[in-house]
Amino acid sequence: MLFADLKLHCWIEENIKKCGYAKPTPVQKYSIPTLLVNRDLMSCAQTGSGKTAAFLIPVINHILQNGPQALRRTETQNNGRRKQFPAALVLSPTRELSLQIYNESRKFAYRTPITSALLYGGRENYRDQINKLRLGVHILIATPGRLIDVMEQGYIGLDCCRYLVLDEADRMLDMGFEPQIRQIVDLSDMPRKGERITAMFSATFPKEIQVLAQDFLMPNYVFLA
Ligand code: AMP
Repeated sequence: MLFADLKLHCWIEENIKKCGYAKPTPVQKYSIPTLLVNRDLMSCAQTGSGKTAAFLIPVINHILQNGPQALRRTETQNNGRRKQFPAALVLSPTRELSLQIYNESRKFAYRTPITSALLYGGRENYRDQINKLRLGVHILIATPGRLIDVMEQGYIGLDCCRYLVLDEADRMLDMGFEPQIRQIVDLSDMPRKGERITAMFSATFPKEIQVLAQDFLMPNYVFLA
């Protein structure tokens, strides 16, 4: 299989070529078509398997095909704060992984109207991260604790978020992020399952991950081992 067989938007196909990727890795070969037909996904994928592109390519393709302007929104609040409503949210356990995802998303969205933004913990970069949101954001890549903080400050709303990705879900649970993840997914204004597309990536598939998959994914989700 080649990337051309996936019938992607020409801009993203061009950007994949620029990255020098000749053909999809196994995790991409199965994950991308699943997400392109709007099925939820649980993929057991290790770091180095190409899992980042496996979820970013369908997300960016979806946004390009549906018209980038229609999918995200910005509102100015009474207090003058600008609140951003991204089209896609990627939750990641660490600053390092978030940065890698962000850099890859910038490559795939090169010369397109699609914008990505990053939120991760650390006192010194809070203002910087908030300022960068002002430009608008289609794809928000965030660690769970910092995202909750920024949502509580009124800078982010999730009611437009049609794509949810949990990357390295097992690591997020190992780090104790389950309550924060559940708060973001279940207690925010994020569209419910079935009204969004949800992809979970995890190196392992223990009981806790199976329960999370049951709670967050549609019952007919595709499982890729
Ligand atoms: P990941 O598992 O997402 O951390 O990706 C591991 C590495 O593989 C990254 O450096 C990617 O740039 C690279 N990569 C991802 N997809 C492909 C592909 N289809 N062909 C060649 N390299 C790739």
